[in-house]
Amino acid sequence: MIKTVKTVDLSGKRVIMRVDFNVPMKDGVVQDDTRIVAAIPTIKYILAHGAKTLTLMSHLGDPSKDAKKAEEKAVKDGKSFDKDKYIKGKHRMEPIAAYLQKKLGKNATVVFAGEDGCYNKKAFIDSQKPGTVIMLENTRFHKEETSDDAKERDKLAKALAEYGDIFVNDAFGTAHRDHASTASIAKFIDVSVAGLLMEKEVNYLEPIVTNPVKPMVAIIGGAKVSSKIAVLESLLKNSAALVIGGGMAYTFLKAQGKKIGKSLVEDDQIDTANRILETAKKAGVEIVLPVDHVGAEKFDAAAKPVAVASVNIPDKLIAMDVGPKTLALYKKVISTAKTIVWNGPVGVFEFDAFAKGTEEVAKLVASMTEKGVITVVGGGDSVAAVNKFKLASKMSHVSTGGGASLELLEGKKLPGIEVTRCRDYFVAGNWKMHLTRAEAANLAKALVKSLKGGKRKYMAAPSFTALETVGEILSGSNILLGAQNCAAEEQGAHTGEVSVLQLKDLGVSVIILGHSERRHIYKEDDALINQKVKLALTHGFEVILCIGETLDEREKGKVEAVCKGQTEKGLAGVTAGELSRITIAYEPVWAIGTGKTATPDDAQKVHKFVRGVIENLYGAMVARQIVIQYGGSVKPENAAQLMAMEDIDGALVGGASLKAEDFAKIAKF
Ligand code: PEP
Repeated sequence: MIKTVKTVDLSGKRVIMRVDFNVPMKDGVVQDDTRIVAAIPTIKYILAHGAKTLTLMSHLGDPSKDAKKAEEKAVKDGKSFDKDKYIKGKHRMEPIAAYLQKKLGKNATVVFAGEDGCYNKKAFIDSQKPGTVIMLENTRFHKEETSDDAKERDKLAKALAEYGDIFVNDAFGTAHRDHASTASIAKFIDVSVAGLLMEKEVNYLEPIVTNPVKPMVAIIGGAKVSSKIAVLESLLKNSAALVIGGGMAYTFLKAQGKKIGKSLVEDDQIDTANRILETAKKAGVEIVLPVDHVGAEKFDAAAKPVAVASVNIPDKLIAMDVGPKTLALYKKVISTAKTIVWNGPVGVFEFDAFAKGTEEVAKLVASMTEKGVITVVGGGDSVAAVNKFKLASKMSHVSTGGGASLELLEGKKLPGIEVTRCRDYFVAGNWKMHLTRAEAANLAKALVKSLKGGKRKYMAAPSFTALETVGEILSGSNILLGAQNCAAEEQGAHTGEVSVLQLKDLGVSVIILGHSERRHIYKEDDALINQKVKLALTHGFEVILCIGETLDEREKGKVEAVCKGQTEKGLAGVTAGELSRITIAYEPVWAIGTGKTATPDDAQKVHKFVRGVIENLYGAMVARQIVIQYGGSVKPENAAQLMAMEDIDGALVGGASLKAEDFAKIAKF
């Protein structure tokens, strides 16, 4: 969960906020203010809640790269080039500060901190009247902002951190960049939170990858397969159907042996297209490709549209849009969705003669919003399309980030979002080898009802036999479907085992690994557990990695050594990025199913120690964010005291999870 500006006390505080004011500029005049306007609710919120000062930082183009390009072009065209004038008109923040002042009106004062850069501004900021908004110069005038060297980035980040007690990141458009002002700054400031725009973006985009309301249909278009491979693969995991259009569709059609005329194709992506088609088939995801087209002899706005009634395209034509039969097919599939995510146009909508397909899709998606379907549009071109057809306000959410929304849909962790993430209480139930399918269904139904609207993270892990039944009941709820184990191999001759592919097929998103019953009854060792952890992560699962000492080990004073060893060995080869999908469950073996519980102080001691182990392996920021659950006879009566401890972030519950009422009480502690 991300922590937002709404959760902190702003009164009398100095706030430093990263915004994305990277707007198109011409001669110092703002050409499109969408991004400035998008940040205003957060600015107003911060001022209304009594912040002492609000210092804004943003990039605005890239002065040195852009100037170099512009100069080269001028030389090529035989024109003179005035670098200072060029930079003044395109990259200086002073006109943006003036623009913001106009937008905020009389109720706020906006001052520009000067063209001399972002360093040494503390005295200037501290001398401002309470409630002043200070606009810093373009952060990209400093090479440290985007440096690949973390130490260099830290130099600027440290200076910026001095201007605030609280860091707010509202720059969703740059959240995928690991820059000094977007991410490194969080290392030097105690409180890092998301602004309201960032919150909205994450709230709409993240569930698409983690737990969408199903069935979900993804509409993916745009020119190239190569730029959409990761997003296609990621969306396959949760979609009932992938509707493919735009230039990229023709690489897929060629892969299927269809004739595509002179249409856009990436021959080096044919294998990728085949692989995606194969994965979709295995996963039971319907792939919808164009079955007719609107073509043209040349790629030109003035080209004459030619209807192509069949899937095969004549040699001399380029496909520029989808045809009516395709639109009917799209409509049939899209109309079944409860969530629609759209990334990329289905035709060359920029040319009016070839815009019909994209316009019809936009209208259809808009009409689905009216029916209560969640509709999310992300990615530069599809956003431009819904704006062109004046349908943006008819979507549940239109993302302000191009690259950032694409990366989020690819399932990546974005640095600018990760720094605002706080440890989310995660309460998970392990139903072990209990319950028939009918009993499991009743329990799942009761849980969905009692946890409805709950804002924490919940999971229920039934036995393998009940996964499908329970999965159907949990679908679209706020409870994740968990599995209690998986095989260490993807598939093959492993009698009695269950593979990650089969778990994926059932909609499982979390796997419990290294449970003490697996370690001690089934003799699983750290190497095997690690193999399973890595396999599960590779297939996009979240993992609850269980660790904990036996009574004998506790009595011999080996608690820390055991927990350190199991953590380090269980996570061997797991990257810092992957760690965001790991929860650790500290479960002292002597407390599991015995009715004995570690005292809150004892448990806290071990949790703190384990967080330290993570810090040594992955650094302080990652350690701050990893969720460490406690497990071992957690009950409604002891949950609150345990959860009150600083390093205990939730519970893995066995026995008490079999009663909906008890589990709900624990979850709501
Ligand atoms: C468990 O199985 O992970 C567990 C903690 O069980 P119980 O809550 O019954 O001790």
